Amino acid sequence: MQYQSTRGKCKPVPAAEAIKMGIAPDGGLFVPEEIPQLSPGELQDMLPLSYTGRAVRVLEKFLTDFSTAEITRCVESAYRVKKFDAPEIAPVRTLNNGTHVLELWHGPTCAFKDMALQILPHLLTRAAAKTGEQDEIVILVATSGDTGKAALEGFRDVPGTRIIVFYPGRGVSEVQKLQMVTQEGQNVHVFAVDGNFDDTQSGVKSIFGDPQINAQLEQSGFRFSSANSINWGRLVPQVVYYLSAYLDLVRAGKIQAGEPINFVVPTGNFGNILAGYYAAQMGLPINKLICAANENNVLTEFIRTGIYDRNREFRRTISPSMDILVSSNLERLLYEVVGHDPKPVDDWMERLKETGWYDVDPQTRNIIDRLFWSEYATDEETRQTIKETFATCGYLLDTHTAVGKNVYDKYVMATGDKTKTVLVSTASPFKFNASVAQAVLGDEQVAGKSEFELLEVLARASGMPIPAGLKDLDKKPVLHNRTVPPEEMATAVKKALGLK
Ligand SMILES: *Cc1c(COP(=O)(O)O)cnc(C)c1O
Repeated sequence: MQYQSTRGKCKPVPAAEAIKMGIAPDGGLFVPEEIPQLSPGELQDMLPLSYTGRAVRVLEKFLTDFSTAEITRCVESAYRVKKFDAPEIAPVRTLNNGTHVLELWHGPTCAFKDMALQILPHLLTRAAAKTGEQDEIVILVATSGDTGKAALEGFRDVPGTRIIVFYPGRGVSEVQKLQMVTQEGQNVHVFAVDGNFDDTQSGVKSIFGDPQINAQLEQSGFRFSSANSINWGRLVPQVVYYLSAYLDLVRAGKIQAGEPINFVVPTGNFGNILAGYYAAQMGLPINKLICAANENNVLTEFIRTGIYDRNREFRRTISPSMDILVSSNLERLLYEVVGHDPKPVDDWMERLKETGWYDVDPQTRNIIDRLFWSEYATDEETRQTIKETFATCGYLLDTHTAVGKNVYDKYVMATGDKTKTVLVSTASPFKFNASVAQAVLGDEQVAGKSEFELLEVLARASGMPIPAGLKDLDKKPVLHNRTVPPEEMATAVKKALGLK
């Protein structure tokens, strides 16, 4: 199977090439030429399999140029009990009768990015080897927090790769910072940038595009690549957990085989929920994909009106990983919905770039409306939902998942739909512990306490253990303590790679 660009200006390539390149040369995103189908019989056959067994079945349908043995090796290197603190990898818990929670945060960094970033390095190094690439791959990341740590954990000590992460010295939380500066691994480099996230990101972008550095790298046997969420190698592993959650519910007798269910997805860049769309198109019985947004509610407006408008104030919320105004992966959905016609997609993306907004035609809107529903939650509603869910179900939600729960409650109110539903949970409540503790315990218990003290407070209040990835962070040795001004980022990269 070949992968084509959503902008239609370059020729189709096999999966390995698409993963190696990350973004298509014409600026578009790679999508499979056709979506592989999964018959009810095949789904039934996957019922007794473990998470890794199911992952192999799904990935081999998309990555047809990889052998089953190669895929199995990638899957088994990624989803190991050593790295995930739940034997099921992505367990499904029951909140109440018809509502379940799919926990995607049992990986090393306690957020759902691990589901993809634990396997991406293996897919990427396989892809490089298959396409005859000799060079060592250098992953360059600018992070506002979560992605950097998840990428560091994914790539650490993976042969044939180096990873260099830049984070803004002003702008990450204490826990996030310590997660990065204490990072272990022989092939990792971490730098604080003396600036904000924009400075950091534009610094990384200009290094990627600098012909001189690229030439110097090539001479020394290196090649840049990117681990961000537009890479198909990050998207495809996410299809697996939609199927796996469904099968777990069938196996537990909570749904009948073939019964349609809803998924609620806390959404930012539209990667997670898009994987749900691919699962549905493969044949998984999905009734609605409910797109939950915070006050940066561009996607809610788009799904409701067909107008995508980024011309609005950017809001900082207590669900920071969803503070996004341009959801890159939406481009893939649009391309699918218009039947793989790059022309309208190219127009819309051009308008977004030029004017900051576009609107789609009624037919496109109708198709999206059939499968998707969307609402948003304010910070106040999010806190209220965390408090209420803990009081009534004894279950502690993180701020992102709480946005999902709040939006789901609004969905039920608006539609009366009784379809059984899975809330996709994207982070451990301990990862955003200050906001969660405040919601559950109130301002007084939280005032004046550090993030580390709050971990303890939250553990005591909830009876849950502090996850290994967050525990004792303040006692680990700091291994990366360099801060560079934005204009010296390129020099830092060269030094890290031993270049002149
Ligand atoms: C990245 C992230 C999201 C948003 O996922 P997208 O795939 O970008 O839509 C939601 N919650 C958490 C905790 C995240 O880290």
